[in-house]
Amino acid sequence: MRVERYFKKGCIFFVLFLGFLHFFGDTLSIQEGNDKKESEVKLNVKRDGEMESERNDMVRLIQAYGVQDEKILKAMRKIKRHNFIPEDYRWLYDPYGDYPCPIGNGQTISQPFVVAYMTERIAPKPNEKILEIGTGSGYQAAILAEMGADVYSIEIVPELANHAKKILAQEGYNIHVLEGDGYKGWPEMAPFDIIIVTCAPEEIPDDLVNQLREGGRMILPVGVVSNQRLVLLRKSAGKIQKEEDLPVRFVPMVHEK
Ligand code: SAH
Repeated sequence: MRVERYFKKGCIFFVLFLGFLHFFGDTLSIQEGNDKKESEVKLNVKRDGEMESERNDMVRLIQAYGVQDEKILKAMRKIKRHNFIPEDYRWLYDPYGDYPCPIGNGQTISQPFVVAYMTERIAPKPNEKILEIGTGSGYQAAILAEMGADVYSIEIVPELANHAKKILAQEGYNIHVLEGDGYKGWPEMAPFDIIIVTCAPEEIPDDLVNQLREGGRMILPVGVVSNQRLVLLRKSAGKIQKEEDLPVRFVPMVHEK
């Protein structure tokens, strides 16, 4: 009888011990290592792989800032921004916060509001041909493709061009990404209905304006890092109309070495 009782107690203790290991095992392993924050955020991303509620919050904020085009908001609710941030950088910032995030090679994925705002200003329609300069993470290109545009995008940093090609294919977007210098545009594919530049030249590049179709529009940040403004151009009857817009802060558009 006594042996049986000890055996029963032993079994209960063992089961409790297994439960303890199961419950606290993850927490203990998270707190090991030097970079607690990294493991915590990775765990968050893992737990909610879709991050749909974070995306909805991000879109509500963009809407509150004044972007109303439902096609843009819908695309932003759908596209998983966190997947466009290379894995090594995902833990640094909340991928759905309204700010630019580093993506390596000294570059950033643009602030979600600015992506939405620029997209609203150029108002892309399905099947329009768009040239983007500065593919970066591929996120802006994905938004345009999700809205039905035919997207061509140029990136000067080879690692980023490769990253963008990979993630865009993985997320199901058929976008033409060229590794090269955006100052030259993509003459073989011109003219374009829309040109969107997501890095800042100090002057508006003539070659890009020349590759714009009659009736086409172009948006770009212009100026030095500390003093940039978005500029919207429209080509009509061979003439260019220029409109200055919001002050912004983009990475510089660099010249090929
Ligand atoms: N549209 C991007 C944000 C890009 S950040 C996104 O959605 O993530 C700006 C990008 O422009 C950087 O990746 C940078 O390498 C690139 N860039 C800078 N100068 C360039 C040039 N002359 N030609 C093409 N890309 C350029």
